[in-house]
Amino acid sequence: MKSLLYVNKIFFKYFDKYKTLKEFLAENECICDFFVEEDGYIKKDMDGVKWVDYLVKNKSKVHKIKVDIFGKIYYFSASASKVFKEKNHHSIVLTDITEQENYKKELEHLSVTDSLTGIGNRRYFHQKIEEEIQRAKRYKHSLSLVMFDIDFFKQVNDKHGHSVGDEVLIEYTRLINSLLREGDVFSRIGGEEFIIILPHAGRDEAQKIAEKLRAKIELFQKILPITMSFGVVEYIVGEEIEFIFKRVDDALYKAKESGRNIVVVG
Ligand code: GH3
Ligand code: MG
Ligand code: MG
Repeated sequence: MKSLLYVNKIFFKYFDKYKTLKEFLAENECICDFFVEEDGYIKKDMDGVKWVDYLVKNKSKVHKIKVDIFGKIYYFSASASKVFKEKNHHSIVLTDITEQENYKKELEHLSVTDSLTGIGNRRYFHQKIEEEIQRAKRYKHSLSLVMFDIDFFKQVNDKHGHSVGDEVLIEYTRLINSLLREGDVFSRIGGEEFIIILPHAGRDEAQKIAEKLRAKIELFQKILPITMSFGVVEYIVGEEIEFIFKRVDDALYKAKESGRNIVVVG
């Protein structure tokens, strides 16, 4: 059983509920009770190895710990070593990297976010489709894609100006977002072109969802009445991402060719 014997003064900056180590130990066994178990961060138990032992054994790597201290999240880099002679004693050094981690996360978030509408961008779509296809394969559930594009959007800009066009993009994106389920992945992949990944939806369900969106968009009329054309396809196990993307793009193209404001299932 490992126990905390000594902590630096700065320890109480984080655990400010306690004034002494004794007070801390009266309520907690280990700082690892505060670890957030997330991929990429040290967990209490690292595949059967206790976290301190894991740190000692893996000195050359940089380790990160995420902690939730009574609702406040902090990130630390961590290292541990055996204290000279006293073989069962370890010295653990934690360095607060919360600011850097938050900044990094913010940059990561920005790099996959469309700045006009706040939904995912093309890059986000590419990240998510890889993940979702892997998941659909592993758990053997269906997955569909819905791609859509605003009809005659160039005319909106020409008649009303680019900033009105932007407002239309924002408002209709908001509408669509409000109609989606949690887990659906919505991205803007071109100027006025969008895609939704629908995990767990087969062809018929995806068609129904697209039809619902199409009808709601037509009725919305906020800022300006517009319509959108839709292509829908279901993922075929084993097919490449490029191929399903081409199939959904073809379905959308057919919807445009067939007069617009319709859903075409490919
Ligand atoms: P279609 O029904 O065939 O899709 O016709 P369309 O006019 O929508 O298609 P086209 O590809 O000819 O024009 C797309 C227009 O979308 C051109 C461009 O002015 C506008 N657009 C693209 N990105 C933005 C944007 O970020 N803001 C605004 N306001 N307009 C944009
Ligand atoms: Mg268009
Ligand atoms: Mg377009």
